[in-house]
Formats: sequence, structure tokens, C-alpha cells
Amino acid sequence: MSDEVLVARGLRKAYGDRVAVQEVGLVLRAGEVLGLLGPNGAGKSTTVGMICGLTVPDAGTVTLSGGVGLASDAVGYKRRIGLVPQDIALYEELPARMNVELFGALYGMAPALLRRRAGEVLDMVGLADRARDKPATFSGGMKRRLNIACALVHDPEILLLDEPTAGVDPQSRNAIFDNLVRLKRAGKALVYTTHYMEEAERLADRITIIDHGRVVAEGTQAQLFARLPAAQTLHVEIDGEPDDALLSGLPGVQRVGQRLDISVGDIGSDAGPLLAALARRGIAVRGLASARATLEDVFLQLTGRALRD
Ligand code: ADP
Ligand code: MG
Repeated sequence: MSDEVLVARGLRKAYGDRVAVQEVGLVLRAGEVLGLLGPNGAGKSTTVGMICGLTVPDAGTVTLSGGVGLASDAVGYKRRIGLVPQDIALYEELPARMNVELFGALYGMAPALLRRRAGEVLDMVGLADRARDKPATFSGGMKRRLNIACALVHDPEILLLDEPTAGVDPQSRNAIFDNLVRLKRAGKALVYTTHYMEEAERLADRITIIDHGRVVAEGTQAQLFARLPAAQTLHVEIDGEPDDALLSGLPGVQRVGQRLDISVGDIGSDAGPLLAALARRGIAVRGLASARATLEDVFLQLTGRALRD
């Protein structure tokens, strides 16, 4: 498609004999948020590091629209990408505005433009009135917003955000989400890395699910949910941890500790017979909840494990 702004293919990175990422590919389009979802250690940061040029891949390529790659034009490539790293990177003792201007200076921005842009991005993240204050006096959420301003000062068309809500209060979190929606509307392309499926569900137009360094699924949320056997899940809290033999013959049942997740097409007609079947097997039910399918269910379906365990 012509609106692809970034295509990564066959990315691989090993640290010693530990393979952090292998055969990872992704496509990013203008005006969209691509969610990169996976548990801790899945390889999200390593992937983001390779895309922004901080980590040298063992194999694979990343190409921006117009055929620009790191090998052919490193400066041109990096100008088009902004990174909000997982670990906040700020000069704590320099005023907020100076932090932003330092990042811009790294990109060789002319002083007048840099002053104007620094004001714009500080305003955008809601820190215009704190421009003279030092990040050392900021909350975690304010630091994160300042780090986002730093990543945006050179007006990149692609923004990579690596777990940008870690250590962030709810108010800053919502402010960050509002900023991302505005950037998206302005035609920017965003990669949003998270292990929170709620965030991916809320923000992402398309999602790449990564586990143990590999892409296990990708698509729109509708496409991912279509991989599930059913649209709804019954969560049944049970006594003890019955072995799989006792659960055999019950379709769509997955045990997660002392909980059974049961995929059902229609809760109204399916729940009764299911509960009766559990009772016949001597499984005591302590609690019952139902939910529409989530990305957590998709991850469980694909990997047999919970996203956060
Ligand atoms: P995520 O961001 O999804 O939590 P990472 O990309 O940080 O995952 O890590 C993927 C795997 O690579 C993990 O097993 C991690 O321990 C390992 N890893 C990441 N960076 C390094 C490094 N610099 N040296 C050695 N191992 C690393
Ligand atoms: Mg990470």
C-alpha cells in the first residue's frame, strides 16, 4: 500500500546465545497506531531499538517510505523517527525547555525554529507553564510527558513509544492518550509498545502480538478476535486445581490456576449446561463472571499462557 511509512522485515537480535527477537516483521501506515503487545521479556524494546537505530540487528531490514534505510541515509532516517524510550531519559537539573531544546539541537534544528517548536511541544503535552522548572521537581507522569515532548520536537512522521505509561498517574495517562490521538489525526504513524492489553485495545488500529521474540499474531482487533472460538468468555472461579483429565470433553475450557476460562457463543443458553457439567464432575464453583472477548483471551488462545503472569 502506498501509505506505508515503515516496513520492517526479518528482524533478529541475539545477546550471546539468548535470542531476543527473531523473524519480526511489521508494517506501519500513516495516521495509525500500531500496538506492539507482549509480556515482559517478549522482545518489544529490542524491536523498537532496532527500528530507531539504537540497536544493530543481526539480520533484517527497516525501510521508510521513499526507500530510506539506516544503511543508505542514517541522518535522513533518524530525522523521521522520534523515540520515547522505556526508561525516561532527561537531564534532571536542566529546565524542561532546555531538555527539549537539547534534543532538537541533536537533530541540527536552527535556533529560531527550535525555540518555536520547543514552545509548541511543551504546550501540547501540557507543560508550557512548567517550562522553566527542572524535571527533578516533576511527577513521574510529568517526566514522561516531557520525554514525549523531547521526542516530538523535530516533528518526526513516526513516533515510537515504549511503554509510555509506566509509572504514570491516571491524569497524565489520559493526557498522553489525548496527545497520541491528536498526533494520529495529524497523520503521524505511531508504534505503541505495551504489556497492557487495555491500552492496546483502547489505542491501537492494528496490533502485533509478540511472544518469546516472535510475532504470534497480527491484525486489526476484529481480525484478532476472529481467531477465538467464541465472542464471550465465562470466568468460573473454582475450588482447587482439577487436572486436565477431569476437564476433558468440555469444549472451549482453559484452566488458569483456580479459574476456568470457557468460550461460549451465547451465555444465556450455554452457561446452564456448562455449570451442570462442572457439577457432575465434582468441580465446586465459587464465583462466576462473564466478559466479552479481550486481547488477553487472544493471547491465551495463541500461547496457552496469560499475558501477565
Ligand atoms: P520487552 O521489552 O518485551 O520486555 P526486551 O526486548 O527488553 O523485552 O527483552 C527481550 C529479551 O532480551 C529478554 O529476555 C531480555 O532479558 C533480553 N535482553 C534485552 N536486552 C538485553 C541486553 N542488552 N543484554 C542481554 N539480554 C538482553
Ligand atoms: Mg521493554
